[in-house]
Amino acid sequence: MMRIGYGYDVHQLASGEELVIGGLVIPHEKGSVGHSDADVLLHVICDALLGALALGDIGTHFPDTDSTYRGIDSKILLRKTYDMVLERGWKLANVDSTVCLQRPKLKPHIQDMRGVIADVMGVDVEQVGIKATTTEWLGFVGKEEGISAHAVVLLEPDQGE
Ligand code: MG
Repeated sequence: MMRIGYGYDVHQLASGEELVIGGLVIPHEKGSVGHSDADVLLHVICDALLGALALGDIGTHFPDTDSTYRGIDSKILLRKTYDMVLERGWKLANVDSTVCLQRPKLKPHIQDMRGVIADVMGVDVEQVGIKATTTEWLGFVGKEEGISAHAVVLLEPDQGE
């Protein structure tokens, strides 16, 4: 038996904000706006993990009305989310994701992002897929007004090692 989960998220881009993606600060003249550190990639992975077990979404567990989560490092949210998965007897088979951003190119950072996510979750880097795409200057991503991301995860029963 396996469980599949899906996540989608969007953040606005604005000057004067840090661009945090996959746990890394990416040098850029705009950053993502949000209650936490606005790491769209970690947010979609959290949502996909929660979705796989029908546990609601990231906003349910870490509400933006709670000042605890203001400016929080989303790596903490990912760790807490994956702990919920492990507590229920499941573990990650793999996660695949796509970040949609017009600029800057993310390719130079993708290996590092995979490593960060694997470290936070305590999984092998081979279990973490990250892809990036522009939207060919179309839509809010293309107009550099925002960043979006998608992720799917597959969970398998944790039989213990
Ligand atoms: Mg978000």
